[in-house]
Order: sequence, then structure tokens, then C-alpha cells
Amino acid sequence: MVPKVKLAVEHLTKKFGDLIAVNDVSFDVKVKELLTLLGPSGCGKTTTLRCIVGLTKPDEGNIHIDGKLVNDVPPQKRGLGLVFQDYAVFPHMSVYDNIAFGLKIRKVPQPEVDEKVKEMANLLGIESILSKKAGGVSLSEKQSVAIGRCLVVKPEIFLLDEPLSIVDAKVRERMRNELKRIQQEVGITTVYVTHDQLEAMMLSDRIAIMKDGKLLQLGTPEEIYDNPQTLFTAGFIGSPGMNLLTGTLRKKDDKLLFKMSEDKTLVDITGLVEEALKGKMVLGIRPEDIRISPTRPDKASIKGILDLVEATGHKVIYHVKVGEEIIKVKERMKSDLNVKKEVWLTLPKEKMHIFDKKTERKMSHLPTKVKEAE
Ligand code: ATP
Repeated sequence: MVPKVKLAVEHLTKKFGDLIAVNDVSFDVKVKELLTLLGPSGCGKTTTLRCIVGLTKPDEGNIHIDGKLVNDVPPQKRGLGLVFQDYAVFPHMSVYDNIAFGLKIRKVPQPEVDEKVKEMANLLGIESILSKKAGGVSLSEKQSVAIGRCLVVKPEIFLLDEPLSIVDAKVRERMRNELKRIQQEVGITTVYVTHDQLEAMMLSDRIAIMKDGKLLQLGTPEEIYDNPQTLFTAGFIGSPGMNLLTGTLRKKDDKLLFKMSEDKTLVDITGLVEEALKGKMVLGIRPEDIRISPTRPDKASIKGILDLVEATGHKVIYHVKVGEEIIKVKERMKSDLNVKKEVWLTLPKEKMHIFDKKTERKMSHLPTKVKEAE
């Protein structure tokens, strides 16, 4: 059965004077799904979220919740729960009273309030601080209180705007896992906003990549990682990011070759693009998809000079100079490679992405051989 759509955003546009903050953005969020709006600062994530909540009035477009148009429904009647970056707790009230707040406003009987607050505190692992003043607990606990206060009233949709950006990296990792667990346990439809690609990759069922107010690509983390449709997405996702080499197409005998700009290096891309392609293009390949060796493994491999070795735990990032470009390779530590010496790189064709430099859109497809093997 196809999962039901909980939230539908259709052709949403919001302008501030001449600036188009959100530009014709459309997406669906399915019941119980966690969808992340991911993009750099200023790309329109918060404005999109504010339009969903009803705090910002869009210039164009529709918001549907459970199939009902809510454009003219005021924020408090949309039944949504919003948690911001800067945890909003009442500092002079206890953690208990903070979480109980929404239930009391809704005149829920006290025994039920007590049961629900304790259940939520248990889910969040904050039972031991229920009697403390919310102003006196740690940053991560404050954010848990804000999340608890929001979830305890069972909102239709849970919306989070960079909720982990105030806590330090180590706590962030723990809270990220907690948040995913809680979201799944409660089974709540969630829209999550972040500029942190790693966070988005780890948390999301699907990711919507935004840039300059536009939605560039929507897909599962795997789809976005394996098949970026634009140069921006290719460079934004992954750590380190994808190698993006500029060049042009050459035809030699029955082969199509990518010639790197300002260098003689040729890479065989036969079968990936059409012969008639003109103009500059960009060859993208992830550092983890390239193999490095001290000797030439085959005719298709390309030559470079090992410039730098960067240790990052059990894998190593090799910086290899090929012409004027630095190509990064993520591989295991190899003792037979020497800095400032020649190395050979193998670039598997099925891992290459070719983009049009001008339109920034992907134009390659998988080579026929790989397609058949699938
Ligand atoms: P950030 O992560 O920095 O919050 P964002 O992706 O959430 O970025 P928005 O906050 O939605 O981006 O802002 C999108 C654009 O709209 C930015 O250029 C921002 O300066 C502008 N903007 C947002 N709100 C207003 C406003 N009330 N008045 C004028 N311009 C605004």
C-alpha cells in the first residue's frame, strides 16, 4: 500500500522585496516519514518551515495537511509542533511543568497529565531532572525539554529547525541518535531543517536539497549520495566532497575521452555521454570510489604526484596533484606510497558523474555494460 501523504507543499513562493526566499517549491511528506530540508544558510529552509506552520504568509502556493488546504488556518489551529534552534523553555518553571504546559492549557485532567509527562520524560531519558528548574539544566537537557513539551500534546506534524546546532559536536551525535529513536517510537511525521549534510544523511528517510530558494533534488539519502542531479548536490553531500574536475570532450578512434583543463590527462568516458556534447563539462567522482597505487595497474589509470596524506582514523585521504587539480582519494593506509612521488589512480567508470558546466545539471548515464549487469 502506498503510504498516505500527511503534508503537501505545492508551488510555494515567498518574496521579501526583490529577494525570492522560496521559489516554487513543492514536496510531499508521507505519514511517519522524516523529511529533511537541507541546504546552506539563506537558501530558504526556515521560510519554508514558517509557511508550513503559518507564521509566514506565502505569496503563492498551497499547504495541505491530511488533504485539507490550510492556507487560511491560523498557526495555533494547524496542530503542528515546532522546535527552534534556541530551545524555548520557561526557565523559572520546573522541567515537569514545562512538559505539562500544553496539556494543562488543554485542560487535560491531572492524573493523565502526570502519566503523560512521566512517559515522555522516560522516552527522553530525563526522569531524574523533572523537579529541577528548566533554567538550571544543561543545553542538551533544555533541548530535550523543548522536544518533550512539543511532543507530549501529540502534534499532527513535528517541525524542527536546526534543533541540535546549539549543542557541541559530541552531544549532538548522541542527541541525533536519540531524536531518530524517539521519532520512530512516537511514529510522528517530521520535517527537519539543517545545513549539516551528515546530520541529514543519518536522520532522514528522504532529503530535499535546497539552494537559492529552489528545491534542487528530493530523494532518499542513498539516492542523493549515489545519483546527484546537480553539481551543487554533488559537492554538498559527502565528506570530503566529490572531486569535481573541469574539462572538455575529445573523440579518439571509437573512444570518448574527458580531457582535463590545462592538463594532458585523458579519462575514458565512452558510453557515459553522447558524442555530440559541446562545451565545458565537469567530471565528478567521490574520493572513496578511487583506487590509488604506486605502479600503473592498467592502461586506463591516470598519473599524479602524491602531495599530502591526511589521516582521518582508519581511512586516509590522499591528496594527489594531477595537472593543476588536486584529486582526493579516500583509501586505507598504504605503506608503499611516498609523498612527492608518482602514483596511479583508477577511476571506475560506473562511479563517474558528468555535469554540464554551464547548466550545472548531470548529463551522464550509467554505461550500457553496467546497466545490463543490474
Ligand atoms: P539559515 O539557516 O541561515 O536560517 P535558511 O535556509 O533557513 O537560512 P531563510 O531564513 O529561510 O534561510 O532565509 C532565506 C532568505 O530570505 C535569506 O536571504 C534571508 O535573509 C531572507 N529573509 C528571511 N526572512 C526575512 C524577512 N523577514 N525579511 C527579509 N528577508 C528575509
